[in-house]
Amino acid sequence: MPSPPDGCIFCDIVSQGTYVAKTRGFVAISDIDPKAQTHLLVIPERHVDSFREIGAFRAGELKRMLQFIADTARDAGLVDYQVIANVGPSAGQTIYHLHWHVLGDVESHLEQPNPLTAVTEL
Ligand code: AMP
Ligand code: ZN
Repeated sequence: MPSPPDGCIFCDIVSQGTYVAKTRGFVAISDIDPKAQTHLLVIPERHVDSFREIGAFRAGELKRMLQFIADTARDAGLVDYQVIANVGPSAGQTIYHLHWHVLGDVESHLEQPNPLTAVTEL
């Protein structure tokens, strides 16, 4: 397995063991700057730069990762939620260690109504 790049914050978090949930090969942490009422990040323990390199995972790992995302959301009490992976800088990726955002109740966290989903009374 290639060694992780120096200075990867998510590799550091994984090695420090500071997570809210764990399964074999994956952890979930709380986002330090939440963009929703509930904002968790699901992270593989081994370093993979982004979703673009998803082929680095074996089929069994992929299944475990997706199941862990669903389990993490359920255990956080979420029924409806968003699962997002930003891929590349212009798509908003700022940390180059694959992670899945699990977002519950984004609307109540916004200072302004979301213009994309706001319902207008006619
Ligand atoms: P992205 O912009 O998709 O790469 O997401 C990176 C996320 O990591 C952002 O939502 C940040 O708020 C979050 N983040 C950055 N540093 C930390 C940290 N030390 N612990 C937890 N979350 C972090
Ligand atoms: Zn890393």
